[in-house]
Amino acid sequence: MKLGLRAKLFLLSLGLIVTSAVAAYTYLRGALERSLVEDVRSDLRVRARLVAREAGDVTLDGPARWQQLALDLGKRAEARVTFIRADGTVFGDSEVALSDLPSMENHRDRPEVLTALAGGEGVSERYSATIRQRMLYVAAPFHRDGKLAGVARVALSLSRVDAAVADLRRLALIAALLAIGVAVVLSSAAAPLAWREARSLTDAARRMAAGDLATRTRSEGQDELGELGRALDQLAEGLSSTLSELRAERDRVSGILTGMQEGVLLVDRNGRVALVNPALREMLLLPPDAQGKTPLEVIRHAELKSLLDETTEHDEARQREIEVAGLRPRRLLVRAVPLAGGQGGTLAVFVDLTDTRRLESLRRDFVANVSHELRTPVTAIRSAAETLDSALDRDPGAARQFLEIIDRNAARLHGLVEDLLDLSRIDSQKYQLAFEAIDLNDFIDHALAMFRERATKKGITLGYASDSDLPPAFADPKALDHVVVNLIDNAVKYCPNGSTVRVHAKKGADSVRITVADDGPGIEERHLPRLFERFYRVDAGRSRELGGTGLGLSIVKNLVEAMGGSVGVESKAGSGTEFFFSLKTQMPELPERSAPNATNEDSGSRQS
Ligand code: ADP
Repeated sequence: MKLGLRAKLFLLSLGLIVTSAVAAYTYLRGALERSLVEDVRSDLRVRARLVAREAGDVTLDGPARWQQLALDLGKRAEARVTFIRADGTVFGDSEVALSDLPSMENHRDRPEVLTALAGGEGVSERYSATIRQRMLYVAAPFHRDGKLAGVARVALSLSRVDAAVADLRRLALIAALLAIGVAVVLSSAAAPLAWREARSLTDAARRMAAGDLATRTRSEGQDELGELGRALDQLAEGLSSTLSELRAERDRVSGILTGMQEGVLLVDRNGRVALVNPALREMLLLPPDAQGKTPLEVIRHAELKSLLDETTEHDEARQREIEVAGLRPRRLLVRAVPLAGGQGGTLAVFVDLTDTRRLESLRRDFVANVSHELRTPVTAIRSAAETLDSALDRDPGAARQFLEIIDRNAARLHGLVEDLLDLSRIDSQKYQLAFEAIDLNDFIDHALAMFRERATKKGITLGYASDSDLPPAFADPKALDHVVVNLIDNAVKYCPNGSTVRVHAKKGADSVRITVADDGPGIEERHLPRLFERFYRVDAGRSRELGGTGLGLSIVKNLVEAMGGSVGVESKAGSGTEFFFSLKTQMPELPERSAPNATNEDSGSRQS
């Protein structure tokens, strides 16, 4: 049963009161009784002695006289007076009728009578069946003529003592009841006093438990409750500083995990995902509710699972490259380390090697492409030179032809090397762009003029049109020349005789769009996405024949992008091709240019 403070205080005082009342009553009752009985006894002794002396002086004889004497003395002594002979028979009693005396019991065995008969003064206390009361008897012998004549006994009821004891009991009861009343009042008044402080401590402790560690009890009392309050304050203080240290630590760790480029996966010792950092989530497109699941459920990769299992099994770091299929196929290097310390579990760090591996493969392809492109003209030059040697004397006409072959292939080599050098310069950022506002009408007219003769020879019509209020474009003149010339050159090169090539400059919101369109053979759609890759050619044989290197469009793309623009193509087999690129009409904010390498995205795959 749950008792309130008030009830406890009350029960405590009730116990104290009852115990002390009972103890006091028991002690006082004994003392009072003893003292009263003692008083009665000594009083009776005196009376007994007086009665005995009177009886000894009496000379009369006969039962009626003794009875009369007993009555007289009884009246005077205010007590029951009894005369007993030496043989124990009663021959006078103030409280018994004369006629009843003979039927009275022999009194010789009464203890006080025995003592008196032996010559002493007998005292006895007992319940009298005759008068039905607790009595005190005192007996004294009396003599006549020097001889023991009998015993005079005086008896007094102890009802006075009993009444006094009853009074005492009543008083004790009243006192106890009064004390209980006071206890009720006091406990009701004292409980709230103690209760208020305990209550405020309880409230503060509850708030602390609920997480409000800024709460303080601010107890000042010197008693136990005050001490408890101060202990609670210290506890909250300690907890709050530990908590803020932990929070700072947690924020630091989470900052590191969030900032990391590498993916981090923490698996607890039960084999459940405990933590996934944003990089890994992004890398593997993980769901947000990965926590608590098994790595296999989340990542679905048997190899990764076996790597984690092996790490746990052998309790040592393991590393493996894994390939993840799906929406975004990735190649990842995973290093799994068993976590030492209390918690256990496994930590796996994922490094995304997708780009590295792709760049490696692009680099390999690029080297293979360059070697291949170089080998063809070099082989042609060597075999022509060998044949030339023997043809010089025998057939000077043929010798000239071989010289032409050598010259043409040397020119092709030169073109290739030039293009490669251009690409390498753009890649290595040595190609410093000097931007200026360029009047495109003049610029394009000038570029087209260079192709007039070649175009006329092939019966190709060159045309240029532009918006009337065309703003100047911000570009590097050399780079722009490279771009425009390359696109017109391609058009003239790949279009059959009698075609039309039109250049058009159009105004945009903050840019100018330049289009080079022809009505030549067009390009099949499947080639379009890769057209700007290095060494990508639709028809390698024809391109070579026409002196192409397969690098032209890739250089165009690099240069346009370096100038802050973009490039594209629209074409259909059989119905002409349209290349277009944009230039800014204000000084462009240039994107970060990629680090020097020969294997940009547009490096292309191997072409034969
Ligand atoms: P190339 O040195 O071979 O011309 P480019 O990178 O300039 O290399 O062009 C890539 C390929 O795109 C060419 O081989 C050619 O097949 C195709 N191509 C480029 N321009 C045109 C065009 N105007 N019409 C048809 N095909 C073209």
